[in-house]
Formats: sequence, C-alpha cells, structure tokens
Amino acid sequence: MSFCSRCGHPTTSKIPLGDHQVREVCTSCNTIHYVNPKVICGALVIWENKVLLCRRAIEPRYGLWTLPAGYMELLETMAEGAARETREEAEANIDIEQLYCMYDIPRIGQIYVLFKAQLVDGKFGAGEETIECRLFGEQDIPWNDLAFPSVKRTLEHYFADCQNNIFPIHHEALGTRLDHTG
Ligand SMILES: [Zn+2]
Repeated sequence: MSFCSRCGHPTTSKIPLGDHQVREVCTSCNTIHYVNPKVICGALVIWENKVLLCRRAIEPRYGLWTLPAGYMELLETMAEGAARETREEAEANIDIEQLYCMYDIPRIGQIYVLFKAQLVDGKFGAGEETIECRLFGEQDIPWNDLAFPSVKRTLEHYFADCQNNIFPIHHEALGTRLDHTG
C-alpha cells in the first residue's frame, strides 16, 4: 500500500477523470501523485584526446566505468548539473563546450543529457561515489567493463566523430542493457 505524501492517508490506483493513465490517488485529499521521467545530466570530459571515466563505488554496477553523471537538481540548469556531478564524482572542474548526446530510456523513465567538455588544468581526483578516475585513450577504453549503455554509446559517438573532427548532437532512444542497446 502507498500513502499520500501530502496528508499520509492511503492512496488507490485509478485513472483520474480526464486522464488516460493509472495514477496513485489519495483516498482522503484526492491528491494525484504523478510519476514522470527523471533527467540525468553528465559530461564527456576530454583532456589531450583522452576521456575521463569514473569507476563506480556504488551500486548499481559497482566497480564498472561510467561518465560523471547524476540526477539533475532543482534550481540548476542541465549544464550546471553536469558540472556539479563532475565536481562531485571526479573532483574535476570543466569547461562545457556543447550539448553532445541525449538519450531517451523509456523503459526506466530516464532522459540522459550529456555535454562535451574540457577538463580544466588536467586535474581530477575521486569523489565519494568513485573508486578511481582515469583518462583513457581510444585504445584503452574498458569496453567490457562499462556501466551503462549510455556510456558505451557516447564513447562510440565520440571516437567516430573524432575521425571527422565534427561533433553533432546525437539523440536516440536506448534500452537498459549493454548487450541490447537498440
Ligand atoms: Zn492525501
């Protein structure tokens, strides 16, 4: 059973009048509890043709490599969120260059927004949610130890775009599993 976040009474699953989807609705105050997709902001951080990856110190995907990224907070822009997550997870300051990749992941209600950025002064560390951070050239990317499909796709896009030195915005839908990213 779920409870109303406003008044604490039980909620019930039903389609509100004029709506088309089942929602949790309070049996006392009638508050409708909408659940909508969440935005995840992050950065593909570049330094001297290498990309910055973080090894996760948290579940899910503990020990696997990811891009600095996390849930967008209230009162910040997407770019500010990407810079904040990079400071938190990689202890790095970045200069954001452009919006680079947007992924819809409808199965889990997530939207990824990833910016291409340059590392400032080449300095980075490892934040609380990170075991270690490292710069990887294309030959060294740990392709079999990446945490999420969004990480794999972004790296694939980046190294392909490097061939032409043109970095268009990539927008696509992804699945949730690394072996079925279509
Ligand atoms: Zn209520």
